[in-house]
Amino acid sequence: MRDETCIFCKIANGDIPAATIYEDEWFRVILDMGPASKGHALILPKDHFADLFALEEAISEKVLALAAKIGAAMKKSLGCAGINLVQNNGAAAGQTVFHFHMHVIPRYEGGPAMVSWKPGSPSGEELAELAEQIGRDLV
Ligand code: 5GP
Ligand code: ZN
Repeated sequence: MRDETCIFCKIANGDIPAATIYEDEWFRVILDMGPASKGHALILPKDHFADLFALEEAISEKVLALAAKIGAAMKKSLGCAGINLVQNNGAAAGQTVFHFHMHVIPRYEGGPAMVSWKPGSPSGEELAELAEQIGRDLV
C-alpha cells in the first residue's frame, strides 16, 4: 500500500527519479542525496511502512539479505573496507523520512569516524535489571 503524500513511496515506485542500484518486486535501492560516504545507499520497500514497527514480516525478512547483497557489490565496485547498516526509527532516533528505509553506508580505510558513541559503564546488576525489565514487555 502506498501513501500519496510520501516522497519515498514516489521514489520507490518510480514516480520521482533517483539513482537506482537495484530494483525488484518489493524494493528499490537508491543512492542517498546527502551521502555520509561515497556510495551511501537506501533500501526502500515499494509499499509504505512508517518504520520498523509497521513493517510486514514478509518484507523485514528480506531486508537483511538484500543489504548483504548491496554491501558485497559495494566492496567489489567501490573497494570499501566495510559497511554500516543504519536504520532509524522515530524522530528521537534521527528518522527524518517516515517511510521505512535501511541505510547501507560504505566505509573506507582512513575515512571519518561515524556511527559511534561514548560507551557507558553500568554495573552487572544494572544490566541484569534492565534486561529483565525489557524482557517483561516482549510479546
Ligand atoms: P533518516 O534520517 O530518515 O534515517 O534518513 C533519511 C535519508 O534520506 C537522509 O540520509 C537523506 O539524505 C535521504 N533523503 C531524503 N530525501 C531524499 C530524496 O528525495 N532523495 C534521496 N535520494 N535521498 C533522500
Ligand atoms: Zn511511503
